[in-house]
Amino acid sequence: MKQRLVFLGPPGAGKGTQAELIAQKKDLLHLSTGDLLRAEVTAGTDLGNKAAAIMNKGELVSDSLVLSIVEQRLNDSAKGWILDGFPRNVAQAELLQILLSEIDQNIEAVVLIDLKDELLVERLISRGRADDNEIVIRHRLEVYREKTTPLVDHYMSQGLLKTVQGDGDIKAISNRIDEVLS
Ligand code: ADP
Repeated sequence: MKQRLVFLGPPGAGKGTQAELIAQKKDLLHLSTGDLLRAEVTAGTDLGNKAAAIMNKGELVSDSLVLSIVEQRLNDSAKGWILDGFPRNVAQAELLQILLSEIDQNIEAVVLIDLKDELLVERLISRGRADDNEIVIRHRLEVYREKTTPLVDHYMSQGLLKTVQGDGDIKAISNRIDEVLS
């Protein structure tokens, strides 16, 4: 059973929900960089204050800032993990690779949850988070296409990519993920 996973997909595809479900089922650490960043923003830390304005514009925060919140948690984790929202560009994937080789671990599978743009926008607008207004959403989708989709080829060429369709209800999608991971 695969225990070290990366979840990939556009904003609104349901990565966070599915990552949480699979993490509970397999007793893995769920590391969502979006959630961790939002917790820093809420707590009003220096890091959170730096990140807030960038997140509200739909841009990516700096690689070093994201790495700083992931690194220690990965180092400390005695169990397997799911990375959700990280890596988000090729540079982050390379940084992750270096970090993992230092701790003698490797990614066992990358789950891509895919969904059409119209459905993504619909879901995000109804979610209504601080960065979920239509202009910012469209921008986040552009950033995803430009910065994150190169990771699809990156992980496909390593034979790690498993693609599932993100339409339908939560349980149906979770079953699809179970299938590709078994
Ligand atoms: P979504 O899946 O809807 O894009 P996330 O919660 O994953 O939402 O991310 C929200 C915001 O947090 C992003 O738009 C970005 O500003 C920031 N963020 C999260 N993860 C990263 C990352 N790995 N690198 C840079 N910025 C990130």
